[in-house]
Amino acid sequence: MRQIMVSGLGADGNRVGNFQLQIDKDPNECPICRTKVVPENVAPGFFKGEWAEMYYRCVNTGCMRSFIARYQLDQGLTPQGMRIYRLQSLFPVEPLEKAVSADILTLSPSFARIAAQARTAEEHGLDDVAGPGYRKAFEFLIKDYAISLQADDKAKEEIKKLQLGAVIEKYLTGDKLPIVSKRAAWLGNDETHYERRWIGKDLEDLKKLIEAVEYFIAMELLVKELPTEMPDPTTPAKS
Ligand SMILES: [Zn+2]
Repeated sequence: MRQIMVSGLGADGNRVGNFQLQIDKDPNECPICRTKVVPENVAPGFFKGEWAEMYYRCVNTGCMRSFIARYQLDQGLTPQGMRIYRLQSLFPVEPLEKAVSADILTLSPSFARIAAQARTAEEHGLDDVAGPGYRKAFEFLIKDYAISLQADDKAKEEIKKLQLGAVIEKYLTGDKLPIVSKRAAWLGNDETHYERRWIGKDLEDLKKLIEAVEYFIAMELLVKELPTEMPDPTTPAKS
């Protein structure tokens, strides 16, 4: 908790200068380069009733971008009986380039793109659209992977039309991938349905399962490439 000086609009609508506010904390991460920093406070903040905004600059020399921290007035009082503004969000937020492995990116560029959009929505606090976004990204990943396994055009067409659950059931093999995928699909569907079935599971659980699926698919792709990339010298070459 620290005290800051702001100007702003008082209850009577008139400008107030040099007003003292309590904030819970300064941002500890730059929303643009994602470095953990103690950002420089570049100008006095401004408040208007329930909210206050503070102006910062990132001190990472590779970044140095400015951003705004938005604070919301807490409805309760501190143990000392003070009103406190709590850090709520930072602007602008640049989409985080999450490391999607090169194999996954080649397999399903749509997955990488939609997942990045879902993540941006999530970082803007738009949980209600981030969830369905992740669900959609996941469907592209599974279908693109299932299609990549098929030589037959008819099967490829069927995968495009089938529901996600049916694709997992019919086209995913192995002892781990179908188990994890099925559960990711269940949680993903919860994000789009009117009523949740998996109470106590949330977006974090869904993201964790999707990451596990990404991992298993990346492993499968790697194993598939090995005989070509590193042929077994003890196996006689086919003539
Ligand atoms: Zn930065």
